[in-house]
Amino acid sequence: MPPSSPKASWTLTLKARVWLLGLIVLLSVAAVLGLHLEATQARLTQHHRLLDLLGQTRHLSLAVHELQRERGLSTRYLMHPEDALLTQLRAQQAATDLALAAPGASVPPPTTPLQPLEERRRHVLTRRVSAQEVLTDYGERIAPMLDVLDELSLAAGSHPLHRGMVAHSHLVRAKEGLGRLRGLIAALPSDPTRSALWLESLGDARGRLRWHLDRFVVFSGPGDVELARTVSDGEELRRALRLLSTLALDGSAANDGQTARQRHEVLTVAIDALRTHELQSLAALQARAEADRARTLWRAGLETLGLLLVAGALAHLALSSLQRLLKALEGALRGVQRVVRARKHSPAPVAPLPRDETKVLAQSYGALLDLVDQLAQTATLDALTGALNRHGFSELAPAELAQARRHERALSLIMMDLDHFKQVNDTYGHATGDVVLQTVATVVKRNLREADVFARWGGEEFVILAPDTSAPDAERLAERLRLLLRRDHGAGVPHFTVSFGVTELTSEDDLDSLFARADGALYEAKQTGRDRVVRR
Ligand code: GH3
Ligand code: MG
Ligand code: MG
Repeated sequence: MPPSSPKASWTLTLKARVWLLGLIVLLSVAAVLGLHLEATQARLTQHHRLLDLLGQTRHLSLAVHELQRERGLSTRYLMHPEDALLTQLRAQQAATDLALAAPGASVPPPTTPLQPLEERRRHVLTRRVSAQEVLTDYGERIAPMLDVLDELSLAAGSHPLHRGMVAHSHLVRAKEGLGRLRGLIAALPSDPTRSALWLESLGDARGRLRWHLDRFVVFSGPGDVELARTVSDGEELRRALRLLSTLALDGSAANDGQTARQRHEVLTVAIDALRTHELQSLAALQARAEADRARTLWRAGLETLGLLLVAGALAHLALSSLQRLLKALEGALRGVQRVVRARKHSPAPVAPLPRDETKVLAQSYGALLDLVDQLAQTATLDALTGALNRHGFSELAPAELAQARRHERALSLIMMDLDHFKQVNDTYGHATGDVVLQTVATVVKRNLREADVFARWGGEEFVILAPDTSAPDAERLAERLRLLLRRDHGAGVPHFTVSFGVTELTSEDDLDSLFARADGALYEAKQTGRDRVVRR
């Protein structure tokens, strides 16, 4: 698998694949993180907006409250122009201005053109306006502010605190109902013919008050049940409602100057109680919104951390597995390289593997192929003489026999055995014996054709399978080899002789019978004096 092959340049290397995989994992984690952060951002924006809406609601509620107080004092002053009331009224006007100046308290201009507040106040202070007119005028100033409060609660949309804000809006409207009632009672017309109309307005306002109080209880969340109960069951409100019931039955009682102050007081106390509840409900909403925001932040932080931990663990797992795999592979391949070098009798130490794992794989794969090649070769060859071994011979012989049969050609087998070889070993040593065996192999191989199959059968026995060779031809070949082998082979090689058994394949033969006949011939050669060829 040479890396320079043209195909390799078009396929992704292992390293590139690993990098690509890493990149994909990284991008996926980044995408998931991005989506998660975007969702968190959206949630936080919603919380931020809600807190903003609550802030506006608070400012607006205060402005409405101060206008209501100013209205109450103005109507009372017009009915009873006392110095103490005047002082109270001036102080209230300053408080109203302050509340109206708050940024959240700004409201769109009323649909019907109204006299500027300053001018209206001047008319009140100089008593150039009726209490009834003041009541109507302030009511028209307050109405658009209440609408904005409703809009703010609607703007909270699907947020869980939306219902709480609607409940709050009803509470403010209930208080406005009570404020209007207080004004109505203070501004009771002296003309009795108008009292029927007055009583109708009173009944109307009372009905609206009850309706808003009911709505407040309905929209209060489970956390506000206690507060809702306090509002509807509170002593202040109960007294005010009782008073209103009495007045609804007997309108003339409202004009009783002696009790007018007391009635005003009862209603004011109820209004202030509602204001307290209003503040409590706002504070509860604010606290819930902030807790929600803190929870969201915590959750987002934990989720991000969890996500990063999971991504890190996955990346670590993938990388460590890959590293372990490469290490194991590298270890195995190092072993292969060592074996290859040892077989080549190479004195070179095992070279350090390159850092690029893909190169390690490519090189070691090549080495592995070499080794397989070598192992395949050495499995069929005799290590000492380089001739085929018995296994190598057995692989080729059946095909030769089949070939000879199919084409009706001659095939001969020559078996050869060194004479008195034990003596050679005993006299000159085993190493010299080996040299004699190598000499035999060299001489025989040099004098055989390509097609002849030559093998070391074991010990000092060799065989030759000669295709297209009749028995006489094989006998001649053996004779020639015998003469060549018994010659002087130079220094270091002692004189030796070899005996031969020769036979030709017949139509009844198989490999065993062929060998048995050749072995018989060889035995005969030994028996009849050695250093000869016997044919059967
Ligand atoms: P004969 O003429 O009857 O064949 O006598 P021989 O001595 O050759 O008889 P035998 O077959 O009993 O002895 C064979 C000897 O060959 C015995 C063994 O030590 C020796 N031999 C077998 N393989 C090798 C080898 O690889 N190297 C060496 N040096 N000697 C071997
Ligand atoms: Mg022998
Ligand atoms: Mg022998």
